[in-house]
Amino acid sequence: MPSPEALTPADIVESGLCIGCGGCASRGMTWDRYGQRKPSTATLTDHEAGHAPPPAAFAATCPFSPGARNEDQLALARFPAAPHHDPRLGRYEANYVGHADQPPFRERGSSGGMVSWVAADLLASGAIDGVAHVIPSTGDRLFHYRISRTADQILEGARSRYYPVDLAEVLAEIRATPGRYAIVGVPCFIKAASLLREQDPVLNDRITHFLGLFCGHMKSAAFVDSFAWQLGVERDTVRAVEYRRKDPDRPANWYTAHLTLDDGTARWQDWFHLADGDWGAGFFQNSACDACDDVVAECADVSFGDAWVEPYSSDGRGTNVVIVRSPEIAARITAAITDGRLALTDVDADFIAGTQAAGFRQRREGLAYRLTWQKRRVTPVKRVAPRATGHPPRRRAIYRTRAAIARWSHRMAWFARRLNQPWIYTRWAAASLYVYQALAYKRGRLGRLLARLDGAEG
Ligand SMILES: Cc1cc2nc3c(=O)[nH]c(=O)nc-3n(C[C@H](O)[C@H](O)[C@H](O)COP(=O)(O)OP(=O)(O)OC[C@H]3O[C@@H](n4cnc5c(N)ncnc54)[C@H](O)[C@@H]3O)c2cc1C
Ligand code: SF4
Ligand code: SF4
Repeated sequence: MPSPEALTPADIVESGLCIGCGGCASRGMTWDRYGQRKPSTATLTDHEAGHAPPPAAFAATCPFSPGARNEDQLALARFPAAPHHDPRLGRYEANYVGHADQPPFRERGSSGGMVSWVAADLLASGAIDGVAHVIPSTGDRLFHYRISRTADQILEGARSRYYPVDLAEVLAEIRATPGRYAIVGVPCFIKAASLLREQDPVLNDRITHFLGLFCGHMKSAAFVDSFAWQLGVERDTVRAVEYRRKDPDRPANWYTAHLTLDDGTARWQDWFHLADGDWGAGFFQNSACDACDDVVAECADVSFGDAWVEPYSSDGRGTNVVIVRSPEIAARITAAITDGRLALTDVDADFIAGTQAAGFRQRREGLAYRLTWQKRRVTPVKRVAPRATGHPPRRRAIYRTRAAIARWSHRMAWFARRLNQPWIYTRWAAASLYVYQALAYKRGRLGRLLARLDGAEG
């Protein structure tokens, strides 16, 4: 393993630890063959040749570098007076469940519309001049980060995009254009930007707010290829994608994938009819996510997720859970609850963690187990200690199957695309899903057999 002083982006990429945040992109980002964002060859060469920031700076700023400060250290520095701390949620002022009650935020949002509401509120108050977030795009990317400077622009970006994006261009714009900015991002992106801010006085002055998204994992762009294959359309004809089409008359957790085609027509399908539509099975997951221990963006001023517990998961209008860490945002939210712009109710840490039970299992218990057998050139330093014992056999099998599905989905889709034979991928995906669901939910004949064995063992 390279020493922290010599660590380069190439080491992180080769170790499968690059999430593609773009923090090191001195000369741009590019696509890898599996549809993931990675530092371009020019960026990698720049770092190797010493033209980019010195390796020591890279080691301190890459979110997966073993030499970088961890989420606990970053959050302590940013929220030293936070009255509460929970090992799952980090430091915080208050937690809520509910939604934005000021149209059109909830209708336009994936969940309760709180991310766009807080971003628009900060903008309207003059606390910030722009918000870096993800919007639909054209060209070689279906989505990309942009800095929005009006409420209408913020609403153009509403909805969750399970698609690789990177911060390289917006960081360059923030460095070039004076102002105060908020960044919306998944936990590892918020960590990356927090680390960069500590090293770069210009970013430190200008990035004033972080809005975090809870995160299960990041998908590759090949997930869209798979939608197209399964909906019977040519991938090249897909103009726009919605991962979670909203329908107030159906449960919020019945995701529908929706494709708009070049000719203006649309195709859609519920995720549970897709061969790879079970989020928990890990299809197309970035390999760095297997080494992640932050579910709720612990370094963000405020974090948002979906209330995945009843009665909220059955409410198709969408409901957020919110963790507030900065006193400034806590005060803004309290004022908006009082005057009826937000419909939020106080909840405790256990409630929030309960809405993300599967995410915490995968990123704590599962991570402890994975750290004992997933060997990498660069060993990630995590807040969870490696532990091979104490996991029931079926849980160990689930973690192993999930990791194998994540790894092989990239390769099988690549192979199917190369041969122009989508069935190679879709049949493999359906078979993998059958095994995963037998293990995870005891579904199907195999699941019933495993359940009988479980009973016999018990
Ligand atoms: C990859 C990913 C995984 C997620 N996993 C979970 C999970 O396991 N559990 C959970 O409860 N919630 C998860 N979320 C968050 C959830 O999907 C909602 O984004 C969140 O509840 C906010 O909903 P909202 O209605 O308040 O946001 P909206 O008002 O719809 O606004 C969403 C904002 O997020 C921005 N955005 C969308 N996609 C991205 C992206 N990829 N990167 C950065 N910004 C983006 C948009 O531009 C917009 O500004 C995930 C989100 C993403 C992107
Ligand atoms: S995770 Fe981000 S900073 Fe680290 S190598 Fe990848 S793109 Fe660069
Ligand atoms: S699971 Fe972790 S590493 Fe993966 S995208 Fe989410 S925050 Fe980043």
